[in-house]
Amino acid sequence: MPNPSAPRQNGKQLDPQIRKKNFEEVAQIFTQEEALAEAERCLNCKNPRCQANCPVGVQIPAFIALLKEGKVGQAVAKIMETSLLPAICGRVCPQEKHCEGNCVLREKFGAVNIGMLERYTADTARKEGLLQPPVCASATGKKVACIGSGPSSIAAAAELARAGHTVTVFEALHAFGGVLRYGIPSFRLPREVIDREIETVKSMGVTFKTDVLIGATEKVADLLKDFDAVYIGSGAGLPTLLGIPGESAVGVYSANEFLTRVNLMQAYKFPQTDTPIQIGKHVVVFGGGNSAMDAARCAMRLGPQSVTVAYRRSAAEMPARAAEVAHAKEEGVAFDYLITPKEILQDESGRVKGIKCTRNELGTPDAKGRRRPVEIPGSDFVLPADTIIVAIGQRPNPIIAKTTPELKTTERGVLELDEQGKTSLPGVYAGGDIIRGGATVLLAMKDGIEAAHRINAYLKEGK
Ligand code: FAD
Repeated sequence: MPNPSAPRQNGKQLDPQIRKKNFEEVAQIFTQEEALAEAERCLNCKNPRCQANCPVGVQIPAFIALLKEGKVGQAVAKIMETSLLPAICGRVCPQEKHCEGNCVLREKFGAVNIGMLERYTADTARKEGLLQPPVCASATGKKVACIGSGPSSIAAAAELARAGHTVTVFEALHAFGGVLRYGIPSFRLPREVIDREIETVKSMGVTFKTDVLIGATEKVADLLKDFDAVYIGSGAGLPTLLGIPGESAVGVYSANEFLTRVNLMQAYKFPQTDTPIQIGKHVVVFGGGNSAMDAARCAMRLGPQSVTVAYRRSAAEMPARAAEVAHAKEEGVAFDYLITPKEILQDESGRVKGIKCTRNELGTPDAKGRRRPVEIPGSDFVLPADTIIVAIGQRPNPIIAKTTPELKTTERGVLELDEQGKTSLPGVYAGGDIIRGGATVLLAMKDGIEAAHRINAYLKEGK
């Protein structure tokens, strides 16, 4: 019998005082007892709202039911019918917005901890050798190229391989995974978890190539000569800057550069690694999303005296996941709200010495319903800082659109799709952050899977 009123299991976490000095994974895997106790809370609803609200439709009650019976291999296979990245999604998906946010137990007893159960299932099945790659259909003789190796292209590539096509993924960087690898830190998503899940896709016959920048090394037009279709999943890796005086001072990073140095290039291990990183005594991070939290928590691990997240609205409007904000606070990150930066102040050698800011109050709601920040006249003040990280958003890199003029884009460089989900160039499909401007891992995967189905139809019927 299910036991919904039993306390929700949250698993254990590394002590904040210890973890703020290292890059080890913060959230620890459930023990078998915790996993079974949590699985027993699931009511196995007939009309599971958790599943209906999962962008890739993971069969949540079904995998939890298998887990309760101790059938870990079958449970992971059930998840992998619709998602090939269970260990990644279990760790980084915003479950509070999707599955857990819609669990019937949420209000009264607390939602089932679906994220941790997914992670437990994937990690345990992998450890016990129970995880099998999905079976692929017999070869169709068709070839598809995927641009980028983030979650969107990985999901598209896997789905296309399942359908029997020959798939090659082209990645500009020297390592695969997109934001999973260069943006999200190892203390949230260990690198070996990314490697293992990409291995699964490789074992389905997908070829992955590094160091190929489409638009420079080869163009989309070149790919179309060798491949029957192309999927663009090149993400949104171009940082948005503040656009204020002094932004080129020494000690100002975009979150993109900062996180790439720390996570992809592992600058925190310098000089054992090749890439250094300079961190001052007082770090200020502008922004309030996932990137800002990751930047602040990475900065904290590099040993400054203080790290402050400065956000232009109030805590209630911050887009970052609540759990990430809580973790940042536990690790000693300070938060200062209702601040707009106006000018970065430099010393005589061109290094940051502070930021001239104004205070805001909240005005009327914007199109998304979030109250706008309105500057309070005469509220200028100087925030002391010697390192600034700008984490206020990203947009697509223009290289593919610039070198493929047939592709329609918006002013912000986002690729436009028609009502049928097609780009303006026949045979070329797209999804993930390149069409959304910035979203989530699951939405990027959903786009990749849906585009793969469209590509299947195109390769079969030629439309
Ligand atoms: P990306 O992950 O950006 O991958 C695109 C890949 O394409 C990159 O590897 C890039 O190098 C490559 N590429 C680009 N141009 C070319 C080219 N011309 N030729 C070849 N390759 C190219 N979402 C969550 O759900 N949970 C989180 O916790 C979370 N945390 C985040 C933290 C940070 C710091 C950031 C920036 C984002 C976070 N997100 C999170 C959002 C999520 O990571 C993205 O929405 C998702 O990764 C988008 O996937 P994608 O495949 O479209 O693009």
